[in-house]
Amino acid sequence: MRALRRAALHGDAALPYPGTMLQPPDHPSGQAPGASRPVHVIGGGLAGSEAAWQVAQRGVPVVLHEMRPIRPTGVHRGGDLAELVCSNSLRSDDAETNAVGVIHREMRAMGSLILAQADAHQVPAGGALAVDRDGFSAAVTAAIAAHPRITLSREEVIGLPPVGWDSVIVATGPLTAPALAEALRGLTGEDDLAFFDAIAPVVHRDSIDMSKAWLQSRYDKAGPGGSGADYINCPLSREQYEHFVDALLAAECVASEHDAATPYFNGCLPIEVMAERGGDTLRYGPMKPVGLTNPHDPTVKPRAVVQLRQDNALGTLFNMVGFQTKMKHGAQMAVLRTIPGLENASFARLGGIHRNTFLNSPKVLDERLRLRAEPRLRFAGQITGCEGYVESAAIGLIAGRLAAAERLGEDFAMPPWTTAVGALINHVTGGHVATLDAGPASFQPMNVNFGLFPPIDEPLIGEGGKRLRGPEKGVARKRAMSRRAQRDLAGWLSMQAELPTAAASIAAE
Ligand SMILES: Cc1cc2nc3c(=O)[nH]c(=O)nc-3n(C[C@H](O)[C@H](O)[C@H](O)COP(=O)(O)OP(=O)(O)OC[C@H]3O[C@@H](n4cnc5c(N)ncnc54)[C@H](O)[C@@H]3O)c2cc1C
Repeated sequence: MRALRRAALHGDAALPYPGTMLQPPDHPSGQAPGASRPVHVIGGGLAGSEAAWQVAQRGVPVVLHEMRPIRPTGVHRGGDLAELVCSNSLRSDDAETNAVGVIHREMRAMGSLILAQADAHQVPAGGALAVDRDGFSAAVTAAIAAHPRITLSREEVIGLPPVGWDSVIVATGPLTAPALAEALRGLTGEDDLAFFDAIAPVVHRDSIDMSKAWLQSRYDKAGPGGSGADYINCPLSREQYEHFVDALLAAECVASEHDAATPYFNGCLPIEVMAERGGDTLRYGPMKPVGLTNPHDPTVKPRAVVQLRQDNALGTLFNMVGFQTKMKHGAQMAVLRTIPGLENASFARLGGIHRNTFLNSPKVLDERLRLRAEPRLRFAGQITGCEGYVESAAIGLIAGRLAAAERLGEDFAMPPWTTAVGALINHVTGGHVATLDAGPASFQPMNVNFGLFPPIDEPLIGEGGKRLRGPEKGVARKRAMSRRAQRDLAGWLSMQAELPTAAASIAAE
């Protein structure tokens, strides 16, 4: 039995339904008021499939509404659930030094359907968890179809869900069908549901060279909640600026469906499009040097300044203000690292412009992923403003558990924000700090990364008590965060009545 439990925890391929051994067989009807009424999940992608599974595994019936193959999205190819629309990789499986690996470990421990089927359909890919995409999606579809408490309904939900659906998980993804998206926009307001993301790169604070950069707000303005020294500023001389603009104009860009379909908002033009409009455009735009004095060289006025603004409440991540870009990732890193102070920048997220339906979640969702304006609607997946297959499924997992707990009248404590899944949800529902400036580029989709985790309190000491520096320190920090996440997840799971053995098992590793 113990071996089976461990196998279920770790997504053993021999177990078709992860977590099956850990779940109660059923909740006798009448025991929990409302437990026999279904939860409706809209969208059978990565998030919706995981959410439906989690709800059903807790003994609550689910109707999963998926519009494909009756109505296609323009990106998905077929009708299977959990289709991977592009890469076949669920990214790094290294749980020691990579936040994606940490979230894999947590999802396995929580009986994730997506992780179990990914493990079962793995193809060789070094340290990454890559899958045979068709086998993977077919297996998720088969598991959902065979589940006695899940009804799969192939239909588009047009407009807002009927009022009779009192518990709904909306997991319709970046390509949410237009009628539902418009209806949601009616509830959230125009500014709080985006159809495109225009992402500016985000940099880990500790990779910025502060011997060249400095902290100052323009004209030392404190603003609401500010100190007058809220931005990190990177100065460029005339020569450095000209070199930067030349590199930008020469950089290879991603062709985007945005170009053909939609004019850019004036407030979020890609930097390379601005540069095409003239050599000085950027230094009169996002790189303007006015109101700033470089304390490292106070008598010299920089030709241009790149500003970075705090992106999360922890102050570990900073976004490059106004630097949305379509440069290809390799070119982007090379060009941005020519900026003084960013030579060794480590990017938590690179810039991009994509079609993407997503909510301004920190404002419109509560901490349990419910729409404040209409709490019967809970959200999961990329529409909440996370990014990526794994992150979408992870939020689906928690949304499913929340919806089931609500139906069963049980308490469900949110996972601690020292865990990867907790850090991601915290970012989506509250950890991100809203921009103080006007403009579109405040909350933008984000992958899970260690910058979302609270800093480590313990000192990072190497062998022989040596104080660690540079890359060694970075690796030690990641390992410490991973260990803390593992310990705190085990503690959290031990509080969940139904999974005592799961907690004991991972704590013992
Ligand atoms: C072009 C493109 C490429 C991407 N490449 C990658 C990548 O390589 N790696 C990565 O990690 N992430 C990638 N992503 C991000 C990826 O979409 C998400 O990570 C992930 O698929 C989101 O999961 P989800 O469950 O939120 O949405 P989806 O997986 O898109 O699932 C949403 C589902 O909802 C259905 N639906 C929509 N509206 C309705 C409705 N009204 N009624 C019923 N059903 C509806 C859709 O048919 C779909 O099946 C890419 C995204 C796009 C758009």
